[in-house]
Amino acid sequence: MKRSEFLKIITGATAALPILSFTREYLAKKEYPIPVSIATWKFGLETTSKAMELLEKGYSSLDATEEGVKICEADPNERSVGLGGRPDRDGKVTLDACCMDHLGNIGSVAAVENIVHVSSLARAVMEKTPHVMLVSDGALQFARELGFPEENLLIKQSKEEWIDWKKKSEYKPVVNIENHDTIGQISLDRMGHLAGFCTTSGMSYKMHGRVGDSPIIGAGLYVDGEIGAATATGHGEEVIRTVGSYKVVSEMERGLSPQMACEEAVRKIFNFFERRKQTVDDTQIGFIAMNKMGDIGSFSLRPGFQYAVCRKGKPAELIDSPYLFK
Ligand code: ASP
Repeated sequence: MKRSEFLKIITGATAALPILSFTREYLAKKEYPIPVSIATWKFGLETTSKAMELLEKGYSSLDATEEGVKICEADPNERSVGLGGRPDRDGKVTLDACCMDHLGNIGSVAAVENIVHVSSLARAVMEKTPHVMLVSDGALQFARELGFPEENLLIKQSKEEWIDWKKKSEYKPVVNIENHDTIGQISLDRMGHLAGFCTTSGMSYKMHGRVGDSPIIGAGLYVDGEIGAATATGHGEEVIRTVGSYKVVSEMERGLSPQMACEEAVRKIFNFFERRKQTVDDTQIGFIAMNKMGDIGSFSLRPGFQYAVCRKGKPAELIDSPYLFK
């Protein structure tokens, strides 16, 4: 046996082949109407509809998804994303966002104050810098250089709630209640290209400087243009621990459907809880995923997670995600 053949076997390169051919078979058999856009939570109804309006006109998945999530970032009534997002324990609203396209281009910003459209800022990092991530003051400085408008993101209601919260100063994320949430949105355009954005104000009353999963490529979002894409919402620390969105996409690469891949990622998270002998009582995690043929899936740790789907020619619909535990 030649040395190169031997190395191929021991590195497992040949062992991966049957799984890859299964993936091709799975993809070849199924077709779903495209374009399609999916997004976490109820606010995804509006953002996927917006993306679809643009996707049907021939916009790229990157452009259309960005316009979708920007609606949510600009809405002061959405209290977990962009303007109106709840502050950290020091009363500062700090935003996290990232994006990824089908070619593997990535951009990310974290702990950014006073900029509403951090998704666009993440995209600017991707397109206009030699880097992939800028944080805090550096991200703000870059936003200023590009002429992004600055504004106070702490709305009156959030300020009042924060003052009230300080009486007890108890950091306690609540499952499915909007003291956290994220918009993660993925679209597949007419060219068959996938792209995604993930944007959030993170966990309410987090420590100043805390960064969650949402701006971390592989955790809050991952796109492999030849396989599929996934994005996450929920307790970011758990998603980072398991590199959750990458886990979902890599399960799709192994041949699983988007649905099964999301289930595997949630099980992995639960498995880590079990090893640490911790309960999941106060934890929610949700994944949504789409493969490059437009098949979709979702799974959450606990009931209550919803996501929106908008397919070509149809109104957006809200779906209750299947889950692991009551
Ligand atoms: N994943 C977000 C974070 O940890 C919050 C959420 O989606 O609920 O910052």
